[in-house]
Amino acid sequence: MIYTKNPAQIQLMRDAGKLLHEVLERLKEMIVPGVTTLDIDAEAEKLIRKNGAIPSFKGYNGFPSTICASVDDQVVHGFPNKKPLKEGQLLSVDCGLILNGWQSDSAFSAPVGKASEEVMKLIRVTEECFWLAASAAREGNRLGDIGWAVQKHAEENGYGVIRDLCGHGIGVEMHEDPSVPNYGKPGRGIRLREGMTIAIEPMIAMGHWGVYIEDDEWTVVTNDHSVCSHYEHTIAVTKGDPEILTLPGFQFTEAKR
Ligand code: MG
Ligand code: MG
Repeated sequence: MIYTKNPAQIQLMRDAGKLLHEVLERLKEMIVPGVTTLDIDAEAEKLIRKNGAIPSFKGYNGFPSTICASVDDQVVHGFPNKKPLKEGQLLSVDCGLILNGWQSDSAFSAPVGKASEEVMKLIRVTEECFWLAASAAREGNRLGDIGWAVQKHAEENGYGVIRDLCGHGIGVEMHEDPSVPNYGKPGRGIRLREGMTIAIEPMIAMGHWGVYIEDDEWTVVTNDHSVCSHYEHTIAVTKGDPEILTLPGFQFTEAKR
């Protein structure tokens, strides 16, 4: 069941998205060699609670932390820990919160200190995949247009699109219908409508898309241990360009289409 949101509900999601954006901007500043993901997690929880919101990941199906912190070949759902981050690693931070009953979900990948050109390209192409997909997320298009946009750009760059995990509808619940795969066929799948709110989140590996789950039953890792990047925003579908709820004030330009 897909719940479309009315303008008042989208305003509440906009408020949640704005706060999440502010939290993530602060976390980005913390990513330097020597910091631990547990430090970053503590800061995230502090900022979220200080602003009257709830960290939505903490306790979700037993997940222990406010952020998912996934390093290098870890795709998503890594546990924050006490290991100091090292120069050249890729860190993916995923975070969600609930403000006044409405959810927001966003993720980014960043280099720790200075990373290789290969890592920087992977991060850039993953973000480009998101923007191409977001541009396709408008009333009248179909779900497959989103997936195809991600898949085409990633595969043209020789990367693998993680298939075992996807984006999702979001609203009062973190995970609502529909699932939003990062692969697909243009013109296929359900039709997008104004008022749908979805999280689009390409997860792109340098190598093959196959993954396994570690013994902690959460951390998703690439089978070939190739480095993976993740980029996510919560968006609202409109008749034109979508609104990026976790990037307040953002306006599409030709360059982003
Ligand atoms: Mg997320
Ligand atoms: Mg998500």
